[in-house]
Amino acid sequence: LYVAQELGAGQTVPLEREQAHYLFGVMRLSSGDRLAIFNGRDGEWRAEVTEAGKRGGVLTCLERTAKLRLPPDLWLLFAPIKKARTDFIVEKAAEMGARRIVPVTTDFTNSERLRQDRLQAHAIEAAEQCGGTFVPEVADLQKLSHLLDTWPDDRNLMFCDETQAGAHQGLDAAPRGPWAILIGPEGGFSDAERDRLRVAPFTHVVSLGPRILRADTAAVAAMTLWQAALGD
Ligand code: SAM
Repeated sequence: LYVAQELGAGQTVPLEREQAHYLFGVMRLSSGDRLAIFNGRDGEWRAEVTEAGKRGGVLTCLERTAKLRLPPDLWLLFAPIKKARTDFIVEKAAEMGARRIVPVTTDFTNSERLRQDRLQAHAIEAAEQCGGTFVPEVADLQKLSHLLDTWPDDRNLMFCDETQAGAHQGLDAAPRGPWAILIGPEGGFSDAERDRLRVAPFTHVVSLGPRILRADTAAVAAMTLWQAALGD
């Protein structure tokens, strides 16, 4: 179970109504039962139910069972698409171990509004699902052009460019270190964006094969390719 509070031996964790409903109503736990909890920062802890009620309850931390496992320093930048597909991208990025998920607006982005809190909740759920001890941060929507203006010197960018199909520059000789993957919107990137991205010193242009993939498929394919070449 994900909890927001600090974790430590003897630490008590008050539960919110929804968490209590899940643990005591759905999972049928009661006082004295034990479960694993994490907050994305302090590893995984064994905890005991010390109070169980319909609207709340309390857990007490017993001992740490796993250290925090930080995923590789990989960001996923993507232009939001339809709601369900955006949810999918965030969920898969969290499962596959992105450290940060950054929705960006581009020249052809069709969705300019985004509920960051909802996407963050999806990332938490995905981390819970795959037994992670870490939850990636979902950043607020930001402009790609602004991000590129302030791009950190040491971070490589895997620019997934569907117009490069066949001219595949692999990641085999790519450097290790901090990375970001960039996936465009349904309409792809504008010529101006593509020109700027191609000449940037931190960019590695990558094709994901000869077919044009939907953005959500492209995000998963790109993360898989990156993991195979540079992940640990
Ligand atoms: N502009 C394209 C069009 O309308 O024909 C479609 C863009 S595609 C649906 C969305 C994004 O997925 C692209 O901007 C790119 O980042 C990524 N993508 C899809 N297929 C790709 C491929 N074969 N190689 C590299 N990137 C790809």
